[in-house]
Amino acid sequence: MSRIWSDAERGWMSRAIELARPHRTHPNPRVGCVIVGAGGKVVGEGAHRGVGTSHAEAVALEQAGDAARGATVFVTLEPCSHYGRTPPCADALVAAGVARVVVAAYDPDVRVRGRGVAMLQQAGIETAVGLMEDEAVRLDVGFHHHRRTGLPYVRAVVADAEARSDEAVSVDIAALISEADHLLETTVSPRLPTRGELEGLAEHGHLYVAIEDTEMIGSLRRAGLVDAASHYVRIGENHDGLAAQNGLRVIDAGEIGAGYRRIDLERSPAGWPPLVLRRAEASIPTHHGRFRAIGYESLEDGRHHVALVRGRVAGEEGVLVRIHSECLTGDVFSSLRCDCGFQLQEAMHRIGEAGRGVVLYMRGHEGRGIGLIDKLAAYALQEQGRDTVEANLELGHPEDNRDYGAGARILADLGISSLRLLTNNPAKRAGVEAYGVRIIERVPLVAGENDHNRTYLRTKVAKLGHVIDMEDHSRRRVRGETGED
Ligand SMILES: [Zn+2]
Ligand SMILES: [Zn+2]
Repeated sequence: MSRIWSDAERGWMSRAIELARPHRTHPNPRVGCVIVGAGGKVVGEGAHRGVGTSHAEAVALEQAGDAARGATVFVTLEPCSHYGRTPPCADALVAAGVARVVVAAYDPDVRVRGRGVAMLQQAGIETAVGLMEDEAVRLDVGFHHHRRTGLPYVRAVVADAEARSDEAVSVDIAALISEADHLLETTVSPRLPTRGELEGLAEHGHLYVAIEDTEMIGSLRRAGLVDAASHYVRIGENHDGLAAQNGLRVIDAGEIGAGYRRIDLERSPAGWPPLVLRRAEASIPTHHGRFRAIGYESLEDGRHHVALVRGRVAGEEGVLVRIHSECLTGDVFSSLRCDCGFQLQEAMHRIGEAGRGVVLYMRGHEGRGIGLIDKLAAYALQEQGRDTVEANLELGHPEDNRDYGAGARILADLGISSLRLLTNNPAKRAGVEAYGVRIIERVPLVAGENDHNRTYLRTKVAKLGHVIDMEDHSRRRVRGETGED
């Protein structure tokens, strides 16, 4: 890159990197952001502090307020361009009226790389990429490695003998394996933590143990490298004696790497990391026939999802699939405010009759991803006259906060080649296809229109792009015409 950066620019990007460094954001990247006003003074700073919290750009923009207008933004990673749990930062930067955005590193994921920068450019914002790129990548080499290669993101955590458990140092094994240089940068003097220490840390909610248990141990177990009870691993020096004393099995990093590569090749036809784990499986007889209920755990957020499988689906084309978003009020209490419960029953009915298909029940999608409490709060706002979209926005949520990554991975795990998706929501189809799932047809699923949810369904059609043939189904009244709302 021929561009010459000024010392001041380097200083601001260094500051952004230092802001990001202390935070444990796994599986999100560490990101820092500094906003420099037209007068050359810093007007906003921010870092991503962890999963479920605001992105660095959002934090800095909030601090900057009106001073962001005409400002230059220094950010360590390309601003995001997609609706995930939060709206895209690229949009937020455009809305704030910044004049220039300097990015250290592009998003390493080839599917989105360059998109955030392009969005900024389209809005007339001057962009520059590559300032202190190496430093920014080293800030979170595990993330970059994972996104670039598709290998699972794993961490081995090694307690430092001096600092003891509170100052535990984490090491990214995926990075260690392929990028030995970075091992040298990590000053670890490892002592194997005892199982008691690990459990003690787990009680205090220490992040590293959570990662160990869900991601690393889970994946290693599936690879047959550890049994359910054993906890540990590693690194460099000979820990056999210590491990034996603590009843721990020692695995070396090379073995882990080989295990991951094996899982990756076997389990992930599209080259995706296996971020869901199959945890339990049982048969469930229902009114709509017998299903196999397969319980999955998402390694991204620990949520539990269920795939209700009817018949043989592995390797099949055009499998009927419903990806159903959890709705406690509709699914369990048969609320008439929405059509969820009716759609769930209708989907099970159709798949039961077809003799082959899958109902994926996705947890954490309550109220299009806003959660149960906020969904009830949104209902309260609707009682005052807002529609469902306005109510969500008023509570500070995007109109649709759902992500279909885990669902797509479950479908991949079930080995389905292509599917027919039962939904009225074209955006859901796009959300699933974004993960490489092949959908050959969208099959409408209309059920449960009633006097209570007619406005809600019309809002879904008008504002969320749903395709519902209201005429056809206004005749199909569902029980309960007299309710409290
Ligand atoms: Zn973002
Ligand atoms: Zn519902």
